[in-house]
Amino acid sequence: MRADKFNKTMASQKSQVDAGITRASQEQSVFVFLTGDGKGKTTSGFGMVFRALGYGQKVAVVQFIKGTQASGEELLLRNCYPEVPLIQMGTGFTWDTQNHAADKLAAERTWLEAERLLQSPTLDLLLLDELTYMLAYQFLDEDTVLDALRKRSPQLSVVVTGRGGGTALRELADTVSEVKNIKHAYASGVKARQGVDY
Ligand code: ATP
Ligand code: MG
Repeated sequence: MRADKFNKTMASQKSQVDAGITRASQEQSVFVFLTGDGKGKTTSGFGMVFRALGYGQKVAVVQFIKGTQASGEELLLRNCYPEVPLIQMGTGFTWDTQNHAADKLAAERTWLEAERLLQSPTLDLLLLDELTYMLAYQFLDEDTVLDALRKRSPQLSVVVTGRGGGTALRELADTVSEVKNIKHAYASGVKARQGVDY
């Protein structure tokens, strides 16, 4: 691109960006929903957790599905931020346990913790990792979950991750990003890798 054309494009972009910034003047917490079938939802959620920690904000994490293998982000939180609440459902993947009643009970128990955190008047950011599956398997009642998200403490931003989740969750969220699977190394036989996949 020629220099004069580049400068003109940048000037027009700047006025658009400035107008956007002026328009977005509301100060309020946000509900971010990260969904889709591609890789990058949980890591993005944890990215926001670490971003908030960078400002000394108060954060908490609830993980509704957790594999038997600890993830790097979990280890980092436990080792460097032991004060951050990290609640895990701890039943492993549902296809491992194959015990509907036990999984439902575990989901309900974990949800109680999430509900408590959603009411915290001091928390800045709450990650509810893989919450969507609890709705898909009907371990949790959708209206109860949506209501708790809607009525959360006003300063609290929430990140929900997971595939699916349904229309109502998408409608309630302020920011929705869908990670689309173009391809994944696993499908061509590459083993899940420490620091990349967990
Ligand atoms: P990540 O934890 O890497 O951010 P994610 O949260 O987007 O991934 P999940 O559906 O929660 O994805 O799956 C977690 C694990 O499955 C990760 O190890 C991830 O690399 C892997 N994974 C994610 N998407 C795919 C896919 N489309 N095919 C195969 N494996 C996948
Ligand atoms: Mg995930």
